[in-house]
Amino acid sequence: MVGFQTTLLDNIEMLITYFGILVFVFTINGSPIYNDINLDKFYDGIEDEFGEYFEGDMVLTPIQERDIFEATEGRNGLRNGAKRWPNRTVVYHIEEDNFGEDELKIIEEGMAEIANKSCIKFRPRKDKEHAVVFKSSANGCFSNVGFNNDDDEESEQVLNLGKGCFKHGTVVHEMLHTLGFYHMQSTYDRDDYIKIVWENIKEGTEHNFAKYNNDTVTDFGVPYDYGSVMHYPEKAFSKNGNKTIIPLQENAHIGQRNEMSESDVLKLNKMYCEQSEEGEIDVTHRNS
Ligand SMILES: [Zn+2]
Repeated sequence: MVGFQTTLLDNIEMLITYFGILVFVFTINGSPIYNDINLDKFYDGIEDEFGEYFEGDMVLTPIQERDIFEATEGRNGLRNGAKRWPNRTVVYHIEEDNFGEDELKIIEEGMAEIANKSCIKFRPRKDKEHAVVFKSSANGCFSNVGFNNDDDEESEQVLNLGKGCFKHGTVVHEMLHTLGFYHMQSTYDRDDYIKIVWENIKEGTEHNFAKYNNDTVTDFGVPYDYGSVMHYPEKAFSKNGNKTIIPLQENAHIGQRNEMSESDVLKLNKMYCEQSEEGEIDVTHRNS
């Protein structure tokens, strides 16, 4: 039975691959953004990896993209102090009619976990101030990375939660992008911890396995963490159901979406709640 189910899933996935994926266009801050239909259910129940955004679920500014693609080394927390939320406070707005009661509860619980484990506060938007807007206007789960206040009058950034995104750890994962974190497996020395299996990666999605620039991101002195809620699962962007990421450490499990790991909590606290160590964090507004 197990073999049959696997084959059936493989066939469905193949059909979708060969007969095309519906692609649609929508707009955030005036830039067109393309997104795949949500294929999450085919990938171990992990729902946040599969758009055509940078690494599936992150919306980057052109400067952030350039920094990443000039990458030579780095870890997964943004160095740029200007991309951190001022006053350790995330100002938000929830498009309440986009969500059901259970979904609103999961969003609240996501905020609660972050607030309980750090100095970060969340508060609703007043008037027209900059805010992250929780929506479900598109498929997939995605977010801007860090605080993205442009000069528009009604400036907002997005945290989209499509139908498949309502798992506690997935919501927390997206919120950590909003706060300024990238994915764990793209850190500069990831090859010491995981093996990327390029031949199993779906054509056209290889960029999701790029490494980060040390100028852009920092590990805050925290070692590589297989258990991070920001780590991809083993079969992310697989074209054939086989693994695309193999941990080099025996019995290491990657891709959990239950809650923040201890390292996630530590890094979040180092980014927002401690005095900056000299030279460790650039608090000037780089590149602008
Ligand atoms: Zn992500």
